[in-house]
Amino acid sequence: MIIKMDEVSSAPLLMTPGPTPVSENVRLARARAMTNPDLDRTFFDFYKETCHRLGQILKTKHEVRILGGEGILGLEAACASLTEPGDRVLVLDNGVFGEGFADFVKLYGGDPILLSTDRRRAIEPAILAEFLAQDSAFKYATLVHCDTPSGVLNDVGSLCPLLKKYGILTVVDSVSAIGGEDLQVDAWQVDLALGGSQKALSAPPGLTFLSISPEAFETMHARRTPIASYYANLLLWENYYRDQWFPYTPPGSDICGLAVAIDNILADTGVFDRHARMGAAVRSAVQKAGLKLYLEQDYSNTVSAIEVPVGVDEQAVRTAMLRDYQIMIAGSFGFLAGKVFRIAHMGESARPWLLERTLSALHQTLAHEGFVCLIDLGQAFREALAEGGV
Ligand SMILES: *Cc1c(COP(=O)(O)O)cnc(C)c1O
Repeated sequence: MIIKMDEVSSAPLLMTPGPTPVSENVRLARARAMTNPDLDRTFFDFYKETCHRLGQILKTKHEVRILGGEGILGLEAACASLTEPGDRVLVLDNGVFGEGFADFVKLYGGDPILLSTDRRRAIEPAILAEFLAQDSAFKYATLVHCDTPSGVLNDVGSLCPLLKKYGILTVVDSVSAIGGEDLQVDAWQVDLALGGSQKALSAPPGLTFLSISPEAFETMHARRTPIASYYANLLLWENYYRDQWFPYTPPGSDICGLAVAIDNILADTGVFDRHARMGAAVRSAVQKAGLKLYLEQDYSNTVSAIEVPVGVDEQAVRTAMLRDYQIMIAGSFGFLAGKVFRIAHMGESARPWLLERTLSALHQTLAHEGFVCLIDLGQAFREALAEGGV
């Protein structure tokens, strides 16, 4: 097996669904000497170009902005900028992040109406269609592309056009899908698409980015009340280039790193295929070894949630993986806390040698903790890849 630089690193191997491993070229870009981003015209051009290249990943002609602050800032900024007191907002919920949007809506005075569906599968477009036929008086709707705690992948391309038929603006959290699963912002009619730096883009945590449709900007301009935030006010970012003014100093070094991460993805023409192959091989290995996936169907190819076998201590497994193998996998949170392990295969963690190493270590660790797999997890992964023609 080829030894990759990450394998001689002293840092743990991050097989968590954010943060993910960061390529050397991204790390080096962050070390460049930096200008004053507020005063240097070249930085405004660089920021604009980086947003434009992000738009290529998002398949959109909409305006794109990068904000200093993790993915959560994007979620909050969308809700802060759109919500006025009393606004009805449809919150599509089949997972922790889906349900969580209701909190942001409430925080800004809105009235969230939840459409909650089976958490072991995607939201069925037919269920949404039926719901909208009864009630469609919503200013906007929120939806999560990949709800990371379970790894369920929602069909954004079917759900958003349904909402738009009723004139409902669409807000899509694609933080853990962008770069690993296809997102077609324009074709799928997404008004606000939200992403983060530390997931499938494989840059370090610290940045969020959004695409904002002309209709979303119009809705913000048409507000009767001011946006109840400064940091999360998207209107302040609308004319930054014309005015050569940023609402607050952009983190230049973080954006340099992100720019290289974007280049890495744009240069990787088979990126979705790679994620699909890694996702399928992990799921196949897990099932052949006698472990159970949490989801019944509609798996995101960026992360797998595996049920903790009866009698196994989830925390003990993760602790041993880190101590004995320097590999971090994740547990989960919300209604899945303590119930599943999660292995990411997003961005730079979607590599066969890293996943084989992780699954082999998990195999050994589970055996030590009292669960013996039917077959070797690492070997099952290798075989699944071979069957898939890799
Ligand atoms: C990671 C993630 C976020 C952002 O969370 P941070 O803690 O800010 O990184 C938002 N939505 C989803 C679906 C995510 O996976």
